[in-house]
Amino acid sequence: MTMFSRAGSITPRESVSLLPAYAAGKPPQAAEGLTPFKLSSNENPLGPVPEVARAMAEVDTLHRYPHPNAENLRAGLAKLLDVPVEDIVAGTGSLGALTQIINAFAGSNSDGSQDEVIYAWRSFEAYPIVVRTAGAKDVTVPVLEDGRHDLEAMLAAITEKTKVLMLCTPNNPTGPALRHHEVEAFLAKVPGDVVVVIDEAYQEFVRTEDPLDALALYRKHPNVAVLRTFSKAHGLAALRVGYSIAGPEITRHLRVVAAPFSVSTVAEVAALASLEHLDQVLERVDSLVSERDRVTAALAEAGWSIPEAQGNFVWLPLGEQTAAFAEAAGLQALAVRGFNGEGVRVTIGEVEANDRFIELCRTYRFQA
Ligand SMILES: *Cc1c(COP(=O)(O)O)cnc(C)c1O
Repeated sequence: MTMFSRAGSITPRESVSLLPAYAAGKPPQAAEGLTPFKLSSNENPLGPVPEVARAMAEVDTLHRYPHPNAENLRAGLAKLLDVPVEDIVAGTGSLGALTQIINAFAGSNSDGSQDEVIYAWRSFEAYPIVVRTAGAKDVTVPVLEDGRHDLEAMLAAITEKTKVLMLCTPNNPTGPALRHHEVEAFLAKVPGDVVVVIDEAYQEFVRTEDPLDALALYRKHPNVAVLRTFSKAHGLAALRVGYSIAGPEITRHLRVVAAPFSVSTVAEVAALASLEHLDQVLERVDSLVSERDRVTAALAEAGWSIPEAQGNFVWLPLGEQTAAFAEAAGLQALAVRGFNGEGVRVTIGEVEANDRFIELCRTYRFQA
């Protein structure tokens, strides 16, 4: 056998080698006498409604492929949301649905140019991974001091090369939600050939004045795609099921790139069961929202100034104190999500976890 040697090792595409690795939320460390809690991944501590487990246990077709395009789930959603079933495209989590959109609309072209995708930063950590692996160029627009999207600056960032613009509301990890009137005015100024993705992963948790009605905007604008997920409010993060809602000018291209069978039978059945018990799901969301409000009120009372929290998490803009705070939380058996030099995101969890987090904030001593 002849061997020939080549310098170097197996290397990925250039755009892949430049990517930051996704840092998933870490599990909590053990601490003497303390129940550990994971507050680092915005998971729903209450889990799914009980009927979900029952429905999953009844699945007797594990040897068969699922519906190619989650037909039953999409029919259920179409009825609930009063939209045409063709306007819904399901994916492996809303991240899967987002990947379809980016792959369909942004990448690199045969002339060597790269399409541009605009999003706020800091926002969801998965965005740069999805955008750059598609071969597109990400254009990030810093969020304002209070954690809100800088919509003016996002408009100004649009160029001839812009193909997709993403809005994340409420914004993960900073927390604020966009208001309906501001998104409406924003869309009026975005060119009609730019696809605007509205990521509403935490939509059920929003309790503001003038809440965004993204479906009304999708009905009016053929370039709007709304992302929703079963991972947060429905407590089904493990099953990986989400979807986009958009008009035919978008969905006809999504159908080309969407991998078939991306939602498993078990996930489809579970998501449908959860939708059938939406009242119970929303009651659970209400209880998490009241926990969120209890936490934010306690933090304000303790002198903390944090951005509006409209998701199932709060953002502590700790800057250089981020690592120290995350470590202090760790010693209390609370896993939180620190973004070094920027801040700490803490998920609203079990009542005991929230109590312990509040106590930590009350007693935390800032480093000199
Ligand atoms: C959690 C989250 C999602 C959901 O991702 P899934 O793939 O549906 O689990 C999407 N967008 C944002 C901003 C999130 O925080």
